[in-house]
Amino acid sequence: MTATLIDGKATAAALRAEMAARVAELTAKGLRPPGLAVVLVGEDPASQVYVASKARQTVEIGMRSFEHKLGAGTPEAELLALIARLNADPAVDGILVQLPLPKHIDADKVIEAIAPEKDVDGFHPVNAGRLATGGRGFVPCTPRGSLRLIKSVRQDLAGLHAVVVGRSNIVGKPMALLLLGESCTVTIAHSKTRDLPAVCRDADILVAAVGRPKLLGAEHVKPGAIVIDVGINRVTDPATGKGKLVGDVDFDAAKAVAGAITPVPGGVGPMTIACLLENTLDSYLIRSGLR
Ligand code: NDP
Repeated sequence: MTATLIDGKATAAALRAEMAARVAELTAKGLRPPGLAVVLVGEDPASQVYVASKARQTVEIGMRSFEHKLGAGTPEAELLALIARLNADPAVDGILVQLPLPKHIDADKVIEAIAPEKDVDGFHPVNAGRLATGGRGFVPCTPRGSLRLIKSVRQDLAGLHAVVVGRSNIVGKPMALLLLGESCTVTIAHSKTRDLPAVCRDADILVAAVGRPKLLGAEHVKPGAIVIDVGINRVTDPATGKGKLVGDVDFDAAKAVAGAITPVPGGVGPMTIACLLENTLDSYLIRSGLR
């Protein structure tokens, strides 16, 4: 058996095209375009790539991108002052502060300084609380995108057993809450879980958000399961000696058992930015009284 490939790249492109059409329709009526502010502190190479790609995709769908690049030594107070200005700026619908931040800056304090109604990353405790209590708030982009991919292969998830491996605030926990919201029976596994293969093998939906290259193999996958690989791990390819990206799932082994599976790259990754733009558009519509 070979699993159906869940094409995150194509799903994300379709979502962006849908949003571009919606933005064009709004601006044709003379309304301002939605705006996303992205703040980068320091020169972390991976963060620079993410920020550039977020800015490019924002502009491509007709939204405004406000980029703020601050030096690695920027005092925390200066960053907080910038966030206060962005909170008050009517042209800004979404604010994203690229993580990780330099060590001298308290990331929790910075996240809590973002107005919850502009927190398109969904990391503010108010939005995390709304997700936990079933209220209306911003859902973190990676779990939101992952759920879309799951639903691209199966609409009704009620009663399915979902296992989420990883319990971080940005991926594992919100993913588990979203699946609970879909009436799945949810198990959250982590580094202290006993007999991880047995726990995972019981999953109809298996989400890996760990950060360990190819941790999950065929022995972790129930035949026919939907497997979503959130992991992005940079490793050296022994064949070429060059760097490449692999997920938390051993794709070749798992695809022989799973019913549907996301690749890395080209699975969850592209969905994250598309869902960031979706959150920004949602924010714009709510703030403009259009929703
Ligand atoms: P964290 O490091 O914050 O969390 C990792 C989780 O995995 C922890 O809960 C940890 O358990 C658990 N874990 C670690 N080792 C094991 C193990 N051997 N068995 C079972 N569980 C284990 O990572 P993130 O949630 O931030 O990210 C996870 C992965 O997703 C990374 O590869 C990251 O790069 C990727 N990512 C991808 C995104 C995308 O756009 N596709 C976006 C965000 C992240 P414990 O809590 O017990 O320590």
